[in-house]
Amino acid sequence: MTGGRPVLTMTGISKSFPGVRALRDVDFRLLPGEVHALMGENGAGKSTLIKVLTGVYDIDAGTITLDGEQVAFSGPMQAAAAGVSTVYQEVNLCTNLSVAENIFIGREPRRFGAVRWGEVRRRARELLARLDLDLDVAAPLGTYSLAVQQMVAIARAIDIRARVLILDEPTSSLDAGEVAQLFRIMRQLRDEGIAILFVTHFLDQVYGIADRITVLRNGSLVGEYRTAELPQFTLVEKMIGKELDVLERLDGQPRRDVAAEAETPLVEAAELGRTGAVAPFSLRIHAGEVVGLAGLLGSGRTEVARLLFGADRADRGQVAVDGDRTVLRTPVQAIDRGIGFCSENRRAEGVVAELTVRENMILAMQAARGWLRPIPRRRQDELVEKYVRALDIRPANPDLPVRNLSGGNQQKVLLARWLITEPRLLILDEPTRGIDIGAKAEIQKLVVQLADGGVAVLFISAELEEVLRLSHRVAVMRDRSMVAQLTNDDTVDADRVMRTIASGTRTEEVIR
Ligand code: ADP
Ligand code: MG
Repeated sequence: MTGGRPVLTMTGISKSFPGVRALRDVDFRLLPGEVHALMGENGAGKSTLIKVLTGVYDIDAGTITLDGEQVAFSGPMQAAAAGVSTVYQEVNLCTNLSVAENIFIGREPRRFGAVRWGEVRRRARELLARLDLDLDVAAPLGTYSLAVQQMVAIARAIDIRARVLILDEPTSSLDAGEVAQLFRIMRQLRDEGIAILFVTHFLDQVYGIADRITVLRNGSLVGEYRTAELPQFTLVEKMIGKELDVLERLDGQPRRDVAAEAETPLVEAAELGRTGAVAPFSLRIHAGEVVGLAGLLGSGRTEVARLLFGADRADRGQVAVDGDRTVLRTPVQAIDRGIGFCSENRRAEGVVAELTVRENMILAMQAARGWLRPIPRRRQDELVEKYVRALDIRPANPDLPVRNLSGGNQQKVLLARWLITEPRLLILDEPTRGIDIGAKAEIQKLVVQLADGGVAVLFISAELEEVLRLSHRVAVMRDRSMVAQLTNDDTVDADRVMRTIASGTRTEEVIR
């Protein structure tokens, strides 16, 4: 169905904000009857491209043509009237009004100044029928799920002679069934000849629905591709650019044998265990070493972390820090000894949604100092600013409540909290779960940098591929026991780790 002359062409688009070139010389085209995915890491310029298109921002340079005619919209309303409609991530509708009212709000058919409600409902029903949606148009919108509300927003958008429909991350809060329903509607609109511009960071969705893909990186166009001709790995590479090269080079390099070089391990657990949680295990972690912890969900990975951090009390064994034997009874003692624990459970134990980015960041340091000795504001500002910059946290506003940030940025705030304590051993439990590919690569890079700087890292992840990419050694958990410790050399790959997880045999590799 894709083909013909572009309905929309953007040429040489540049846009700067104070201190940031958000777009430089970007070309973009949209064909009638296609779903076109706009891809790029956070901050690549996707939303800015959409906003200059719909007139939210003026462009510094470039031209936009719709059906061959140059346009410059004054704002989204004018753009919509010309057939370029946008549905935002946050559905901007009124849940207490009816479905029909939401579709026609602000542009109700009137006669002699009076709204013709019969007509409103009839046309709403027609529109929804076109989308195969069977809703009660008189019912308040709030009685329907978020997914349905989003489709009502789409119905509203396409009513205005839409030729171009822009969906900026419409699926981030939908479940699989709802995504399927949305995709059905997108396909139908595409088949009617509407051009759909789709922004998402779920790669599977792109491959499930997009005909073509445009990739932006750092405000510049990387390229335009047919989805069928662009392998997923290549797409990721194009989105991340050089950053992936760094990781690949890392993959190919023989790792410095940190464990062999160091004399005393930084942290050594000796027959540490807790009845009912994890069987006694022994583990040495050296400064500058990344130890990966692999194993299935529920195999005891998090329990190992909690014992090392003193979050759970061990009922046998000991931990030595710098050769100094101790029993860590509380997290504060662990932090005092230079151990940080970035918990897997971002929502429950991690960031505090109501607190600001700043407050979340200084939490661990403040706890370690004691609440009676507040960290001076100047010192807070220094630290917060440093880590917002170092981790590229966006938006870079420390006074925003953390709940306003994306998952990836919340995770970075949590990391910053622990980095501020300058840990010597940092335990990271699933630090990359559920975050977008760009933030994920940044966090992986950070782990490598920390280790290069002499920090010991215990890296826990369900994704074997990233455990193998980052770790010097891999400890394997199975049924709440540590069943193997493998030096991550040429002989170790995902297959071998999987077999170890599956068979659980203790081998000569157990303790080195
Ligand atoms: P994406 O949608 O791909 O995540 P954006 O288009 O939102 O990226 O942002 C591109 C760049 O422009 C980022 O560096 C962002 O911080 C910056 N930016 C976006 N909007 C503004 C704004 N209103 N003021 C200042 N900088 C902005
Ligand atoms: Mg965006």
